[in-house]
Amino acid sequence: MFASFDRPVRCKDGHLFTTIWVPLGSLKAIRWFNQRYQYCPAGHHWSWVTPINVATASETELAQAAAVHDIPVP
Ligand SMILES: [Zn+2]
Repeated sequence: MFASFDRPVRCKDGHLFTTIWVPLGSLKAIRWFNQRYQYCPAGHHWSWVTPINVATASETELAQAAAVHDIPVP
């Protein structure tokens, strides 16, 4: 369902989307423990985002996250 580094995430305002979450660091966002400050494509604003626990997330949440990706799929 998700590519290797794609992770469903939730922003501080509750928006769900998918982003590239590279464990060993990324230059596109400020990382702080398990949170990142980055642009939220669902709400069109900057916010703290945290990864969703795929094991406990509902089908609805995963579907919403999968529907919005911060990088256009070719
Ligand atoms: Zn948002």
